[in-house]
Amino acid sequence: MEANLTMVYDQIIARNPGEAEFHQAVREVFDTLGPVMARNPQYTEAAVLERICEPERQIIFRVPWQDDQGRVQINRGFRVEFNSALGPYKGGLRFHRSVYLGIIKFLGFEQIFKNSLTGLPIGGGKGGSDFDPHGRSDGEIMRFCQSFMTELARHIGPNTDVPAGDIGVGGREIGYMFGQYRRITNRYDAGVLTGKGLTWGGSLVRTEATGYGLVMFTQRMLQTRGLDFAGRRIAISGSGNVAIYATEKAQEFGGEVITCSDSAGYVVDEAGIDLDLLKQVKEIERGRVSDYAMRRGSSAKFVPGGSVWDVPAEVALPCATQNEVREDDAVTLLKNGVKAVAEGANMPCTPGAIAAFSKAGILYAPGKASNAGGVATSGLEMQQNASRDSWSFEYTEDKLADIMANIHDTCSETAAEYGHAGDYVMGANIAGFIKVADAVIAQGLI
Ligand code: GLU
Repeated sequence: MEANLTMVYDQIIARNPGEAEFHQAVREVFDTLGPVMARNPQYTEAAVLERICEPERQIIFRVPWQDDQGRVQINRGFRVEFNSALGPYKGGLRFHRSVYLGIIKFLGFEQIFKNSLTGLPIGGGKGGSDFDPHGRSDGEIMRFCQSFMTELARHIGPNTDVPAGDIGVGGREIGYMFGQYRRITNRYDAGVLTGKGLTWGGSLVRTEATGYGLVMFTQRMLQTRGLDFAGRRIAISGSGNVAIYATEKAQEFGGEVITCSDSAGYVVDEAGIDLDLLKQVKEIERGRVSDYAMRRGSSAKFVPGGSVWDVPAEVALPCATQNEVREDDAVTLLKNGVKAVAEGANMPCTPGAIAAFSKAGILYAPGKASNAGGVATSGLEMQQNASRDSWSFEYTEDKLADIMANIHDTCSETAAEYGHAGDYVMGANIAGFIKVADAVIAQGLI
């Protein structure tokens, strides 16, 4: 990191103590911005970095609810409205026991640049709660979502802030929250949330979009080296929405997806993941990957507590959560001949892992570029809501494919322009940043 950037970075660390993930996300961006700041003195004069790193608004609130035994439960809710220079704040809600301000701020910060890269008019924000949905009944989930929205409703709106899903928040939760928003406001503002059901304002392809977009991006990146998915072994971590639809698209492109995982361990299935079974276990029964292995028969093995990155593969798509690929995992992947790593999750690779991939010269795509298909399709859902229209699957998927191709090419052209051809981290950070920085300056000191 250049000296002038280090000074700003140190101030940001001091102002935001104890937020390790936020520090990590800021550092990753600052590490690549030296040449941009040197070429654009106006960014330093206008303190653009300092402004982008300070959220426009941060909301923290109490979420009281009653469990099935009638006991009172208290959780903490968050919405960080990070930057609205390019459009209304946009980003998901995460319900997971690990959530605290540092997690929401890292996600919100990444979202600013990711959303900028999509080319759509959306700013960056993120929210969520330390609520743990694991093992909760449908009634408990509904009561929690209603209580969460009772406070959130006053802060959001189709032209203000548009939440969606993330870990622990899918179609069911969006439904309960949309219902409560509608009840409180007495408005059918379809565009206030994305990821809605198809009969009440949702968009086709939104469910599949993050995973599909990831594989589309990765295919284009592989092609730069004359490679593709066909016939290759693919390791995918996670078993949620991103992992499932990354598996589906990778299989459609001829890849052999052989793994999935959850917090208890991983499955390696030498016959290739049976997607119908995985969907049944995860989407319908809300079960675990160990159930998948048990029902799949002899081709699949469940490894409790192990690292999915021990499985030899040519393409690795981390689709679980932050910091799930550590430096030693990266070393193992490289030793086993990995040729490309593309992030489906947000910040799944640690700085040590990224350094190892970059030193080895393999293809590596950061999440803010490769997983942007989800939020991009949320942007398309907003367009459909605004025009009271709904598009066909094919039309929407074509739009997603165009957006992913465009993000890929923007990243690779920007990296080349700054003398780092093939460095997708540099390309994504610089291209995402410049657009926001110019908009911030144009709109004056606010
Ligand atoms: N949570 C997703 C992300 O990390 C999508 C957010 C959205 O659709 O607004 O980008």
